[in-house]
Amino acid sequence: MLMSQLYAPTLRETPAEAELASHRYMLRAGLMRRSAAGIYTFLPLGLRVVRKVEAIIREEMNRIGGQEVLMPIVQPAELWQETGRWNDYGEEMFRLTDRHNRQFCLGPTHEELVTDLVRAEVRSYRQLPLRLYQIQNKYRDEIRPRFGLIRGREFIMKDMYSFDRDEAGLDESYWACYHAYERIFSRCGLDVRPVEADSGAIGGDVTHEFMVLADVGEAVVLYCSACDYAANVERAESGKVAQSEVPPKQLPMEEVATPGKTTIAEVTEFLGAAPQQCIKTMIYLADGEPVAALVRGDHELNEIKFQRVLGCASLELADTATIERVTGAPVGFAGPVGLRIPVVADHAATEVVNAVVGANKADYHIKNVNIGRDFQVTRTADIRVVVAGDPCPKCGAPLTSAYGIEVGQVFKLGTKYSAALKATFLDENGTEQPLIMGCYGIGVGRTVAAVIEQNHDEHGIAWPVAIAPYHVIVVPVTIKDEQQAKTAREIYEALQRADVEVVLDDRDERPGVKFKDADLIGFPIRITVGPKSLRKGMAEITLRKTGERMELPVDQITDYVVKTIKG
Ligand code: ATP
Ligand code: MG
Repeated sequence: MLMSQLYAPTLRETPAEAELASHRYMLRAGLMRRSAAGIYTFLPLGLRVVRKVEAIIREEMNRIGGQEVLMPIVQPAELWQETGRWNDYGEEMFRLTDRHNRQFCLGPTHEELVTDLVRAEVRSYRQLPLRLYQIQNKYRDEIRPRFGLIRGREFIMKDMYSFDRDEAGLDESYWACYHAYERIFSRCGLDVRPVEADSGAIGGDVTHEFMVLADVGEAVVLYCSACDYAANVERAESGKVAQSEVPPKQLPMEEVATPGKTTIAEVTEFLGAAPQQCIKTMIYLADGEPVAALVRGDHELNEIKFQRVLGCASLELADTATIERVTGAPVGFAGPVGLRIPVVADHAATEVVNAVVGANKADYHIKNVNIGRDFQVTRTADIRVVVAGDPCPKCGAPLTSAYGIEVGQVFKLGTKYSAALKATFLDENGTEQPLIMGCYGIGVGRTVAAVIEQNHDEHGIAWPVAIAPYHVIVVPVTIKDEQQAKTAREIYEALQRADVEVVLDDRDERPGVKFKDADLIGFPIRITVGPKSLRKGMAEITLRKTGERMELPVDQITDYVVKTIKG
């Protein structure tokens, strides 16, 4: 490819809307252009990268017995109504109506469609396991599309669905895919950490997210540096915090006036108590019924864990009227003493001796409150947000927290969709059984963006060879110099013959401009043909990633390049 012909309009200026390096460089290096919020066109260089990531994914999916299909983007509402997700999906779903007034959506995911496909054809255990995948656009009307490809409204996803006859089969499909994902991300040059994730209120099922640790990530993960424990913040648990051996003596309860002091910060400042000495009481509605959650003053309630513990379908903070009714006090003074609704306490909250709590009375708190003596709880459970420094639940070492970009997720679905859509098969005994399912997604564009987040510097992208749009750029310093132009073209043609993906910068531009573009686009190898080396029959090689430079005789360049990109 000749640079003069390549449709890669590079930008010198940073586009105002781009906050992240990946977003900035994808626009500046001419990989893509925006056409609406969260909706992009891939230009030739960007599409080459996408296709390479897809090729890696295909290879690894095929290797674990995946069979590629292509399902429609436009999906009938009826299927989604069968599983109840036509309503549940809410505003994130793009919906449309055809000329006959029938309703459709643009697929945000394909569980309904694939299950419908399979229920019509799969009859017998002999047809299982079945692993079907596709690579295709997905549509989600995200509330806040941002960061370029990281959170788009139209984006490319690889989604695989597995169908097995039993749990053991599902387990095999799940781990096969898990390990395939490890290979895919590592081949793309990504450093990825699989973390345990929450599977939603349905509970019980297993799921992992594949996280690229990056400060710009939107997800929070906690991991142990001493063992392999890692989980996202929604899921993460804490080990037991060591208690002082001799618990302090329990003091008598004492009501104290705290006029207008409703937050932990205000109360602790006013009373001169530490936040760890307080217990926060929060009133929630679980499926409409009031329930209280207790966490230590310096901790936050994790609503996802709380909901899992309660096993309810809906969970929301109680309204003011409910709070006043169940506590007998205005908002900000709730406490566990005398409360007559179910109370769930976080483990750490139950260990506070002589706690400060709300008095269930306007403008009052109570000091020296002790569990067992002064109030009872319905249940003790892990319901708080785990933070860095908390002990690892597996080995007790302190956990570290980091931000992550979720590039993929694997999920044991079980019979959720097969039961709703009555997708069954006959086992050896001729008994009808529901198919056991798993689903597995990778965001292709988000993966590309994550690779850039992990592989760039102040000059531009530094592509890993495996997914670079081209491997090499050949840059004659002065194209008007006949000898330089001729040698550059010879190197270019020799590389092409060796199946190296190469661009020749044949533009009549200043060398600085050409070098800047080469660094911005991020070709892993640059070959510079300039007067000094050429006099010795040499050309200069620069590796984008390390900045390493060397001179090589022109006739050795092809060998060197082929070795470098294969190694
Ligand atoms: P998130 O929590 O980031 O919204 P998700 O958990 O809803 O993502 P999944 O349904 O698990 O996403 O989709 C599988 C993969 O598709 C994700 O791991 C991610 O890589 C990608 N993906 C999801 N939403 C988007 C989006 N809006 N833009 C780009 N990629 C996305
Ligand atoms: Mg996900």
